[in-house]
Amino acid sequence: MDKQQEFVLRTLEERDIRFVRLWFTDVLGYLKSVAVAPAELEQAFDEGIGFDGSAIEGFARVHESDMIAKPAPATFQVLPWRAEAPGTARMFCDILMPDGSPSYADPRYVLKRILSKTSDLGFTFYTHPEIEFFLLKDKPVDGSRPTPADSSGYFDHTPQNIGMDFRRQAISMLESMGISVEFSHHEGAPGQQEIDLRYADALTTADNIMTFRLVMKQVALEQGVQATFMPKPFSEYPGSGMHTHLSLFEGDRNAFHETGAEYQLSKVGRSFIAGLLRHAGEISAVTNQWVNSYKRIWGGANRPAGAGGEAPSYICWGHNNRSALIRVPMYKPGKTGSTRVEVRSLDSGANPYLAYAVLLAAGLKGVEEGYELPAGAEDDVWALTDAERRALGIDPLPQNLGEAIDLMQRSELVAETLGEHVFDFFLRNKKQEWEEYRSEVTAFELRKSLPVL
Ligand code: GLN
Ligand code: MG
Ligand code: MG
Ligand code: MG
Repeated sequence: MDKQQEFVLRTLEERDIRFVRLWFTDVLGYLKSVAVAPAELEQAFDEGIGFDGSAIEGFARVHESDMIAKPAPATFQVLPWRAEAPGTARMFCDILMPDGSPSYADPRYVLKRILSKTSDLGFTFYTHPEIEFFLLKDKPVDGSRPTPADSSGYFDHTPQNIGMDFRRQAISMLESMGISVEFSHHEGAPGQQEIDLRYADALTTADNIMTFRLVMKQVALEQGVQATFMPKPFSEYPGSGMHTHLSLFEGDRNAFHETGAEYQLSKVGRSFIAGLLRHAGEISAVTNQWVNSYKRIWGGANRPAGAGGEAPSYICWGHNNRSALIRVPMYKPGKTGSTRVEVRSLDSGANPYLAYAVLLAAGLKGVEEGYELPAGAEDDVWALTDAERRALGIDPLPQNLGEAIDLMQRSELVAETLGEHVFDFFLRNKKQEWEEYRSEVTAFELRKSLPVL
């Protein structure tokens, strides 16, 4: 048994923890959990715990439903909302096939695979997510409009603002689970919050995002409200993005940084951005995986303050340009480690493992093939006409999930990154969602056409 495993077993005893939840994530990004008794853990560390994977989205074909969950002791944390003895703890798991090989269906493994390729190239990949979400009074299931939990706006600090107490409690809980928060504030829409996590290697960040979503939902319930990561719950307000700052390091040197270069951006940084741009369309179904995701991207004509709320619609990059898909934030003089690129398409409803995997794959492709970075867009690209954007070579992101699926199914990059099984399952599932949506007569049509036709 190694040191981390020993630490886990010792902590279980010292803190009287009777339940250990083994966590993993399905292909669509839903958290799954199987609880084991502490007595089973030693064996779980050695061999894993068997479970029937056939009921988990995207996990198994029917004839090979036996799967094994093997806990990663480095991810052990006590759940703060179950902290009083006897307590509950959790660990993230790797999913294995019965023969002990990694499961082709495990999103965590999809990310690990590309991270290991990245480290073969000499790089470590860091991510820093800005997670937006709504607090609602209710979550109606009949399709009617939810009610935001407060009526504040961007950076508001008001006494009856539920968000303030909420953020304080939520952040203490995250910190007690080893997840550092850098920044938090009320976002632009009523009920909308943003919490930014400190940067970490991408696997840790993805695990942290999964924990984050659960913690937010938990704290919300304790405060009598509901948290949602749905990309765009309201037509008239901005949606919830999960802008993520990305960087590659070579050892402790930031590979995106070059002192004196334009925007302090190295050749590696430039071609990484070029990769993100060139492959933006085909990875979109993964970074923005729901029918509703495209309402965020295309919602609201009166940009940027209106319903679109600074979500990017066009494939371009800019220096501090909030209408761009990719933004290179202002360089902080003296901080050579801080050069990074912010991807703004990603939304809060994404599977973080798969989304980070395809973003990394796109950027690395640019680095490996030495893509040239096109000129940056320093204008507000929403204010340009279609013809002006065409002249500048700026293409739109997919208009909807259907278009995103079309682009993804022709993508070698995405097929290779996700692996055949996840790629096929994902496409099948998303086509079904798109078909269901496409064939539904909506409230919009009835409102628009029934009275006059
Ligand atoms: N809510 C916006 C989005 O969906 C972002 C707003 C902001 O952080 N500037 O991307
Ligand atoms: Mg922010
Ligand atoms: Mg924000
Ligand atoms: Mg941002």
